[in-house]
Amino acid sequence: MRTQVAIIGSGPSGLLLGRLLAGIGVDTVILERVTREHVLGRVRAGVLEQGTVDLLDHAGVGARLHAEGLEHGGVSIAFDGRLHRIDLAGLTGRHVTVYGQTEVTRDLIERREADGLITHYEVSDVALHAIDSDRPFVTFRNGGEDLRLDCDFVAGCDGYHGPSRAAIPATVLRTFEKVYPLGWLGVLADVPPVDHELIYSHHSRGFALCSMRSQARSRYYIQCAADEKVEDWPDDRFWDELRRRLPREVAERVTAGPSFEKSIALLRSFVAEPMRFGRLFLVGDAAHIVPPTGAKGLNLAASDVHYLFAGLREFYREGSRSGLDAYSDKALARVWKAVRFSWWMTRTLHRFDEEGAFGQRIQEAELDYLVHSRAAETALAENYVGLPF
Ligand SMILES: Cc1cc2nc3c(=O)[nH]c(=O)nc-3n(C[C@H](O)[C@H](O)[C@H](O)COP(=O)(O)OP(=O)(O)OC[C@H]3O[C@@H](n4cnc5c(N)ncnc54)[C@H](O)[C@@H]3O)c2cc1C
Repeated sequence: MRTQVAIIGSGPSGLLLGRLLAGIGVDTVILERVTREHVLGRVRAGVLEQGTVDLLDHAGVGARLHAEGLEHGGVSIAFDGRLHRIDLAGLTGRHVTVYGQTEVTRDLIERREADGLITHYEVSDVALHAIDSDRPFVTFRNGGEDLRLDCDFVAGCDGYHGPSRAAIPATVLRTFEKVYPLGWLGVLADVPPVDHELIYSHHSRGFALCSMRSQARSRYYIQCAADEKVEDWPDDRFWDELRRRLPREVAERVTAGPSFEKSIALLRSFVAEPMRFGRLFLVGDAAHIVPPTGAKGLNLAASDVHYLFAGLREFYREGSRSGLDAYSDKALARVWKAVRFSWWMTRTLHRFDEEGAFGQRIQEAELDYLVHSRAAETALAENYVGLPF
């Protein structure tokens, strides 16, 4: 088997890269470990930066997003019993769009199928070979057969646990990690959201986030300990705790209902450098993880795809490697800014017991400064709507 770009992983990174390359006539094959249904069922991110929306438009998969996505021109920060709205649109001229990662994935998979492009699902034993040569190839098992895929380039879009990052020699790869001693307990419920925009709430009992997927589907999160179990959180306990962490006027408006998804995600920041080795390019979660506080994970995957697509287009159209050579540095410059912002949001809004009363006062001062300084509000807004790429 031969293709121009072998893509490992059918998450948002791999699918979006495949679609953009198809648009310029570059052939791709995607290798995916799990089933199509599993990929479509994964509930994750939901806030898209305008740059991500523009890229999805450019890829020709923006129609449903524009019909069903919710445009938000602001976001609220709650603390000390008060609600303060940050006017994203007024401060930056840009907005964010709430549209679930499940829907982005569905749009891209359906378009890939309509284009007649190949994805091998349920493959195992994916291994990368000769990535530092001009003739890289990938081997894998599919339906009991051992197969080989020759290619010009490998795009490692296989998330944190995939084999791509591990294919870079340890002598070359440098990793940076920060683990936060907490998790997010999230629920999805078919109840109307408490507000038309997101509310990030700082509270002495711990952080809470009021989000949504549509006007009829809410996504709520509360900070929990890293070792807590979902089974310890029946719905009633969750709704009670959520209300306690919100200003009273907001808590009174929360509509509770049976949750149909409940999970705990642990928070950490992780970056691997470089994001390129020979003919292998790491994209999205394969190279970096951010805590969800700033809604940056999926959006960073999109900006990586943008830079890699530009480099590959230059290579296939003009024979130039300069875009590919610049990929890692360009992507990492933006990645680190998003890592910083996600870390800042996390540090400012969560309860950190180990920081003690001093840490609590610093958070309060930071939040008070934020809501009384146009410069501080603008800094948050600029990062939240997404730095340019
Ligand atoms: C539980 C959870 C909650 C999240 N919540 C948010 C959020 O609220 N906001 C936000 O912005 N971001 C969130 N994120 C992050 C966001 O979902 C990711 O940044 C985004 O999915 C990255 O896309 P990706 O395509 O790079 O990686 P992934 O979506 O992880 O896709 C990688 C793909 O590679 C496949 N794969 C893995 N190993 C192999 C292998 N050996 N062979 C072949 N295929 C393989 C996987 O099955 C998967 O389909 C969350 C992530 C998780 C895990």
